[in-house]
Amino acid sequence: MKRFVFFLSLILLFLSSPVHAQPQSIPNGPWVEAEQTVQLQAFLTVDELEKKLLGIEARSKGRLKVEVAGYSATLGYPIFVAKFGEPDENKIGILIQSTIHGDEEAHVVSCVELIQTLATSGNKDVLEILNRMTIWIIPMLNPSGVMFEVDGSRWPKRLNTQTWDPTEWGLPSGHVAPHYYGSRFGVYGYDLNRDFHPNLDFVLNPATNNKPRGSSRQAGFLVTPEARASAALFKALKPKAFIDLHHQYPTYAQGVDDNDMNTLQILGVVISGTSYTDLDGNLYTIAPEVLALSKQMNSLVYQELTENGNSHFGNITKYAPINYPGSALGAYQLNGAAIMLFEIRGGSIYDTGQKANGVFIKQTLNGLWAILMGFVTGEVYDIDPTFYDTEIPGSGPRIRNPHPNPQP
Ligand SMILES: [Zn+2]
Repeated sequence: MKRFVFFLSLILLFLSSPVHAQPQSIPNGPWVEAEQTVQLQAFLTVDELEKKLLGIEARSKGRLKVEVAGYSATLGYPIFVAKFGEPDENKIGILIQSTIHGDEEAHVVSCVELIQTLATSGNKDVLEILNRMTIWIIPMLNPSGVMFEVDGSRWPKRLNTQTWDPTEWGLPSGHVAPHYYGSRFGVYGYDLNRDFHPNLDFVLNPATNNKPRGSSRQAGFLVTPEARASAALFKALKPKAFIDLHHQYPTYAQGVDDNDMNTLQILGVVISGTSYTDLDGNLYTIAPEVLALSKQMNSLVYQELTENGNSHFGNITKYAPINYPGSALGAYQLNGAAIMLFEIRGGSIYDTGQKANGVFIKQTLNGLWAILMGFVTGEVYDIDPTFYDTEIPGSGPRIRNPHPNPQP
């Protein structure tokens, strides 16, 4: 694939040489040290994100439209979407989503970098991408998770902030909450990435058999405005591909005999058996070509990031097998989109800190770029989908930070 030097603003040659043959109780870092105070300034608040997006929009000469796709529950933070183009059956639609988990913030920065390049670059590949594709990017789906505070300091959390009220859905006041409802420091909210339903118009009501509590092997209930905002964008765009950007903690060794830590885990299959029947008996299936394209897209990114010259992005494995019809990835794949999970090492702040985040952001940008160019050139369709099954290694053993950070 033709490539050009992309995102020069992120120059980060922080990486130690791989060390093998150490026991996995002493995994390679970098880790946040126990006494280290983690700085969040490198990441963006909702206001800072808005300012950046509007600034880029103003300089984009009409390429970029920034819109509010909805508002977070309770606190009413805007959920921004950066739109390059409108739905068009002659164009390839791509939906990129980040920070569905509020404590996985590095990709807000990844998204802003990508948006800036698409909005302002004169590079001919960028112009060709914009000519052939409609790209919508949600840089921060869970702003109330990102903006969560403990003792007056911002301390992002996975869940959104929202209280379960069964009467809102016509259910008896004592009706149990969804299984993905919980609290952090006494403040309640939902794991948005279990709240999706393959019926994107699903409305929880007394007549449905799809009622809480449920389980992660079942669809969610679309009770959060954040998941509904994402689903509305998906329905409007009907994208060919959907990409969801996450972090992971704890992380994983590259293999049983390879003590290097992952830089990235990827996944293109999140529904076992390629179909799902909800509790009302409705069947949703993944078309064979959608499954194949998901595997091709994941394989393309793997091949691009592990090729010569990208060797420090080479520690890539598949995420362990899951079956999550209530995840955004699962619900959208059941609605015809090829999917890819980017799960970079490190729970942003708790684990590897900012030292390594720049590397992971660059890795994500190179992967996203490979996808965009792969669709523009058609190269993604040339990949044998079985590469995904046979050549991308499975997840290695789980490892934890040996210096747990005392911050909350
Ligand atoms: Zn996540």
